[in-house]
Amino acid sequence: MRIPEHGMVSSRARDRMIREQLLSQGINDPRVLAVMRETLRHLFVEEALASRAYGDENLPIGEGQTLSQPYTVARMSQALNLTGPEEVLEIGTGSGYQTAILSKLCHKVYTIERLPTLADTARKRLRRLGFHNVVCRQGDGSLGWPEERQFDRVIITAGTPITPSSLIRQLAPNGVLVAPEGTLSVQNLIRITRLADGNIHQETLEPCCFVPLVGAQGWKDDSP
Ligand code: SAM
Repeated sequence: MRIPEHGMVSSRARDRMIREQLLSQGINDPRVLAVMRETLRHLFVEEALASRAYGDENLPIGEGQTLSQPYTVARMSQALNLTGPEEVLEIGTGSGYQTAILSKLCHKVYTIERLPTLADTARKRLRRLGFHNVVCRQGDGSLGWPEERQFDRVIITAGTPITPSSLIRQLAPNGVLVAPEGTLSVQNLIRITRLADGNIHQETLEPCCFVPLVGAQGWKDDSP
């Protein structure tokens, strides 16, 4: 089944996704629900996978990487507590879908993808679809944004053995970081808040499962 860009099929599929995957599992931030409802997720995967874009599953995006299931994207977005004026650093652009969701919830998104082909595809896709408040970079995001600066929010969309200190350093006072932390096979979604006095508060939200964050402050790159 081919899903047309603005077709009834996609609209009904998105309604069902909101009802059966998000509302039913505790996603209740109205802004997150609204942007997940309006964003055309099938435009972020290959056409052959478009009919599965609104299902409760991860989808392959090439290079052995995946686009997370809708619930995970919504859960991480909600955990960031975005209100609108924030600048967000995202590590792991992948397809650009999570980037697109964030870009509608905040002022500006800075996103880094390690793999050049994915970074290039996502950059072109986000530009073509009109997401102009996004700055894309290719590189090792485990080292943080290359320029010295701080962000109101940081989101890591790949599993890390331990949250990189370079990313915690780039968190502004009252800033929030959300990341999957654990082993290669299973992680916990954690939320770190930098309190106004500079101290760090860490919470464990729920178990999750991501492809690895590969880099100097992540997992070792075993590829030949
Ligand atoms: N959020 C993405 C989306 O909406 O499509 C999916 C992200 S996918 C689960 C994880 C991504 O993190 C992969 O594209 C992977 O190449 C990337 N990644 C892994 N290690 C990285 C690193 N050190 N820096 C930047 N990106 C990295």
